[in-house]
Amino acid sequence: MTRAMYPGTFDPIHNGHIDIAARAGALFDELVVAIYDAPPKKLLFTTDERVELAREALAHLPNVSIVAYAGLTVACAREVGAQVIVRGLRNVADFEFEHQIGWANRALASDIELCCLFCNGEYASLSATILKEVASLGGDYSLWAPAHVRMALAAKFPARESMQPVRVLSRSEGKLTHHG
Ligand code: ADP
Repeated sequence: MTRAMYPGTFDPIHNGHIDIAARAGALFDELVVAIYDAPPKKLLFTTDERVELAREALAHLPNVSIVAYAGLTVACAREVGAQVIVRGLRNVADFEFEHQIGWANRALASDIELCCLFCNGEYASLSATILKEVASLGGDYSLWAPAHVRMALAAKFPARESMQPVRVLSRSEGKLTHHG
């Protein structure tokens, strides 16, 4: 039996992540989605919120479970009994990052394999950062995240549920003027 682990920040989980989890779940007997509790970047959702959003998003996949972790990813993989780490690749930047982190992980734990899956074309430019930015500005991101994630984002940006009027800084007046 092969158990794989899909680690990441998932702040929040979106359709690109869900696609990778579904495909990895079909490749391996079991998949553990591991949510890193304190990455070196600013988070919108707490660890508990990210776990809950992922749990609901992946509830339709019977062999997929969710954990949160602190510390080394390879240590977490050992802890959950995963022989493989799964990551998603969108572009060359992802490749270079995964190449580096994969090298470090291999030096730390040579018995754990890395499996990178190319993302589907429709999600190639989707990131949690873009999702949060569009949500914060009131844009339509209905194709990028499931309904419960969109509700959670709307709750974080309560005044931004519909498109905000554009504000253009007028050079001549040197102050903000409203258009639209
Ligand atoms: P990171 O772990 O770098 O903080 P995330 O937590 O957002 O990034 O992503 C976790 C994993 O999901 C990474 O392997 C990342 O490359 C992958 N991923 C992120 N966005 C997408 C996407 N749109 N399609 C497929 N995979 C993605």
